[in-house]
Amino acid sequence: MYNVAIIGAGPAGIFSALELVKKHPEWKILILEKGTRIEKRKCMIRNGAPSCPPCKKCGLLCGWGGAGAFSDGKLTLTPDVGGHLSEYMPRQKVEELIKYTDDIYLEFGATDVVHGTNMEDVAEIERAATLAELKLVYSPVRHLGTERSLIVLKAMQDYLSEKTDIITDEAAKHLIIENGEIRGFTTDKGNTYYAENVIVAPGREGADWLSHELANTDAELVNNAVDVGVRVEIPAAVMEHITDKLYESKLIYYSPTFGDEVRTFCMNPHGEVVCENYNGIATVNGHSYADKKTKNTNFALLVSKRFTEPFKEPIQYGQHVARLANMLSGGVLVQRFGDLLDGRRSTPERMRNSILTPTLTSATPGDLSLVLPHRHLSSIIEMLLALDKIAPGVAARHTLLYGIEVKFYSSRVKIDNNLETCGVKNLYAIGDGAGLTRGLIQASASGILAANSICNK
Ligand SMILES: Cc1cc2nc3c(=O)[nH]c(=O)nc-3n(C[C@H](O)[C@H](O)[C@H](O)COP(=O)(O)OP(=O)(O)OC[C@H]3O[C@@H](n4cnc5c(N)ncnc54)[C@H](O)[C@@H]3O)c2cc1C
Repeated sequence: MYNVAIIGAGPAGIFSALELVKKHPEWKILILEKGTRIEKRKCMIRNGAPSCPPCKKCGLLCGWGGAGAFSDGKLTLTPDVGGHLSEYMPRQKVEELIKYTDDIYLEFGATDVVHGTNMEDVAEIERAATLAELKLVYSPVRHLGTERSLIVLKAMQDYLSEKTDIITDEAAKHLIIENGEIRGFTTDKGNTYYAENVIVAPGREGADWLSHELANTDAELVNNAVDVGVRVEIPAAVMEHITDKLYESKLIYYSPTFGDEVRTFCMNPHGEVVCENYNGIATVNGHSYADKKTKNTNFALLVSKRFTEPFKEPIQYGQHVARLANMLSGGVLVQRFGDLLDGRRSTPERMRNSILTPTLTSATPGDLSLVLPHRHLSSIIEMLLALDKIAPGVAARHTLLYGIEVKFYSSRVKIDNNLETCGVKNLYAIGDGAGLTRGLIQASASGILAANSICNK
């Protein structure tokens, strides 16, 4: 019997453990992770595999550190980006919590450099954005870089190994809920773990699993928006006047044709586009190293869509679109913007006639208009044209669009302000898997919040 059992060792799970051992060193705490320990983590794509192999457990997303391990490690230090924590507590409290969380990253070895703190630069870029009908969301960024993220997370693993029970390579299978209260869970290895409190933090990788587990409970799921889009790759020089000052610019646009919200997401100056594998579906993402630089910059353009009754399966919707791209290309599809506008597919030959060398070489040249719904495609084209006004060259013919990028943080578990699930006592649902967050700092902060809720009980 544990005082607290944590499912998932991503940033949300790790930070809840860090807070719990700090406040209650005498408690018995279990961290269960379906992937491996951090030193054993391997992503075949990162190791040079030509395409994303159908790994049993995705090496990019599963294991100690979760999706954070091979992530770019951009800590966006604002409540406005990367999650919904401000809906559960006053903004000022979220700001304090972010500061507290950021300090822990520093304690475990994060760099002390924060980008985007010069307000004159911010004002100048904001003005240019406004003239192009774009909204700049101010977000200072601490950039760890992929290699430093691994070091920081390893230091946390070493620290927690001495103070908690960490079990890896074992997945929670079923939550045990009796009379509206959590008792523990069973695992894929046939074990049963009992705990007074369970924090469930399975990330986007485990969002589907979590929604199935809670389907017959009162912790009903709130239908969230689903974000579907592409990853854009351009020569780094095109956006340098912005990325040198802000590192990452979060820009929002409301597309004229459909009025949908399109936003830039996860910008990686001098970075690489990478392939991900979500339960056998290949999708695209991006990252950058602190020291190793490419000549390209990449960022996602995501179109947010909130579905209404009776539709209840936004995750499946996103997966369906991604599967179409997989069906046509065998994995990730890439198209030059010029070919898209001309209504023709990109071919290896057309790709060669380009000033841009793709960083994801395994992507297959193809036609995104056969994959993306018209509504999404139009919004993406309109957003690229708007971005071109503040960074001429974004909508150039050789700009590369990789598809599909989908964010599966769709269904949000119904939780109260303590992040305890409504209807299942002593069960806390946090991080990306609960649809509560979308980024490292808020996922980590949600862990601290859940831990404190348990401690304060
Ligand atoms: C390539 C990439 C780059 C990114 N870059 C950034 C960035 O620069 N900045 C930023 O803010 N965010 C970034 N993100 C997003 C960020 O990584 C996530 O928001 C964050 O990791 C979410 O934390 P989490 O703990 O909620 O979930 P995760 O990090 O996804 O961790 C969940 C963990 O739970 C485990 N798990 C799932 N189901 C089970 C189960 N049934 N039993 C046991 N364990 C289970 C998984 O194996 C995983 O390890 C990036 C993501 C990716 C993939």
